[in-house]
Parts: sequence; C-alpha cells; structure tokens
Amino acid sequence: MDFEIDKDELQSAIDVFGVDAQFGMLQEECAELIVAVNKRRRGSDGYYENLIEEIGDTIILIEQVLIYLNDNERIQAAIDAKMVRVRQRIAKHDLNAKADFIVNHHVPDNNR
Ligand SMILES: [Mg+2]
Repeated sequence: MDFEIDKDELQSAIDVFGVDAQFGMLQEECAELIVAVNKRRRGSDGYYENLIEEIGDTIILIEQVLIYLNDNERIQAAIDAKMVRVRQRIAKHDLNAKADFIVNHHVPDNNR
C-alpha cells in the first residue's frame, strides 16, 4: 500500500506493546472497519469520516503484522492467486452481462 508510514515507528509499536497485543489490536480494528463499512451500506450520517478513520487504523495494524511476519514473498503469492480469481470473476461477469444484454435486447433477425 502506498502510504507514508514510518516503518521504524511500526517496529517500535511491536517492540513496546508486543506482537500478541498488536494482533489483538488488528482484530479490534478489523471489527471497527466492519462496522464502518456497514454504516456506509446503511447510508448512516457521517459514515465517510468513520470509514476513513477505520481504514487508516487497520492499515497501521496490517503494516505492523507484515513487518512481524516478514514474508512478503508468500503474501505476494497469495495476492497473485486471489487476483487470478478476481480476473476470472470479472471475465465471467462480463460474459453474463453480454448474454443478458443479448437476451434483453434481442432484435429479430429480419429487423437487423
Ligand atoms: Mg479504529
């Protein structure tokens, strides 16, 4: 993620609070992000500021966990595999959309 976060400060947080505490914080922040996303879905007043704040909180904790795991190669492999699935789902969706268009906008052959 292309945000400016001081890696030394993130490492300090892990050193000072401990990795278990930071995993616990990640869990809490993920839960708060779920609530924020739900507020957006419901169209609650002020959802946007809350959503931005919780995304920021979650990224800070994810970055700490990434430092602790120190296994970006496997994480990248997991991302690559998921992105293959995303591309497949997009392609399938496109095909379905085209099929729906053809079905819903069928023009008899004699009118083409
Ligand atoms: Mg939070």
